Amino acid sequence: MTYSGIREQRPDTDTFNDAGGCSVELARRFKAGCLKHADRTFQQGLQCQQTNSIMALLSMEDSAFVVHSPLGCYGCCSASNDWFRVGQAHRGQFPIRNARVIVTNLDQQDIIHGGEKKLREAVQKAWSRYRPKLIFIFTSCASGIIGDDVDSIADDMQGELAGTIIIPIHCEGFKSKVNASGYDASFLAIKKYILKDAVKTETEDDLLNLFAPPTVSFADQMEIERMLSDIGIRANYIPFYASLEKIKKIPAARASTAICKVFADEFMKDLRESYGIPFSHTIMPIGTRNTDRWLLGAAEVMGKTEAAKTYIAAEHEKIAPLVTDLRGRLEGKRVVLCGGTGRSFAAAALVDDFGMKLAAMTTTTLDNDTLIDIEYLNSVHGSFTIDVGNMMPFEQVNMLYKYKPDLFIGVPVWAARMGIPTTHVLDIKRPTMGYRNLVYLGNKIAHSLENPGYNRKLARYAHLPYKQSWYEADTFKFIQEL
Ligand code: SF4
Repeated sequence: MTYSGIREQRPDTDTFNDAGGCSVELARRFKAGCLKHADRTFQQGLQCQQTNSIMALLSMEDSAFVVHSPLGCYGCCSASNDWFRVGQAHRGQFPIRNARVIVTNLDQQDIIHGGEKKLREAVQKAWSRYRPKLIFIFTSCASGIIGDDVDSIADDMQGELAGTIIIPIHCEGFKSKVNASGYDASFLAIKKYILKDAVKTETEDDLLNLFAPPTVSFADQMEIERMLSDIGIRANYIPFYASLEKIKKIPAARASTAICKVFADEFMKDLRESYGIPFSHTIMPIGTRNTDRWLLGAAEVMGKTEAAKTYIAAEHEKIAPLVTDLRGRLEGKRVVLCGGTGRSFAAAALVDDFGMKLAAMTTTTLDNDTLIDIEYLNSVHGSFTIDVGNMMPFEQVNMLYKYKPDLFIGVPVWAARMGIPTTHVLDIKRPTMGYRNLVYLGNKIAHSLENPGYNRKLARYAHLPYKQSWYEADTFKFIQEL
């Protein structure tokens, strides 16, 4: 069956976006098939899949981007442009530039009369200004609702703009509540418009497709490439800072893997079907256990298991004294952790390395894949509270008030204002992954615990917009089973 690109419609798993409670109970009900689908009667936000589609590709070389939407939709991507700029600085790519984006800025007139003329103009402008090899067009709720025929325009203009591949990406926000669907939309389009009917070329035995989301720092890229290269694997690092040539190289790889669990998992299944390329699907390499699992997974599909085992033992030996030292500073500290699905579970297992205790965490989705991680964490921490939701900071502050953790790991805006020491692992600017970077991350965590003064002062002067009654209410009171 052809995958639609909508994660809720995957045939091999049920997908939940609105749930919360005790992790053991949630896992039990999910497994028994008696967890009912629910909705929130109040919700604060929802990260749109268009954002994920755009940020997955924004750093591609020789590319221009047309966002066919009202201006506000692209506003969500300002962080991605910031990451792109930081990434250039770290890679020594000067002068630093912004991503080449043109937004069609659909307005009320266009909603009534159609926005196709604006789209054509924007594509033409992108071509004349930048002469890119690739023009990506991102759809939006507005363009989808008014029914602009984006595919036909792309086909039509393809003939006029020689030497450029025009790639429409269907990422209308209303299609899915799982923002990772946005990654799938981008990969489906890459397959359809770049790889097309490419046949399997001769396999390059040491080449691994390494799918990297845009939130990986350059320090992490280098650490991951170092680990792979040390066991004789060459990475085709895509699509972050990749080129058209690297995308075309995909069918020549011996195997595939992804740094983030929810980044290219569906695409890798497609590559296995289309080209017979096996893949490894484990967990983000944050923390010793996860790095071991991730590296062993990649090594196994590349036929390098023995080399990886020897290598892992040697790496453990090198960092063991440093991890023991960090453990002494962090052991027993209680943690609340909020992030997207890939990072949340990776960081939750990192908590083990340092002997910390998981009190509560968030994930954007609950499905067969996340169940594996929840069951693992249940086996380590007993039970903890889990909040399944996409961008619900009001529930986050409610949990923080109730659990009063020693440390919050996640985007720090709210927790810092409550005076809680914070650090986060969604850090494009600093190292978090692999063996060497684990030590950096541990020191960062210890530093924020041992220096809580700034957040404490912040809490004295910055106030959150919630009433006391909300802090005392049931965190999940707005979730109603259907
Ligand atoms: S595409 Fe839709 S959901 Fe996404 S930002 Fe625009 S209006 Fe919001």
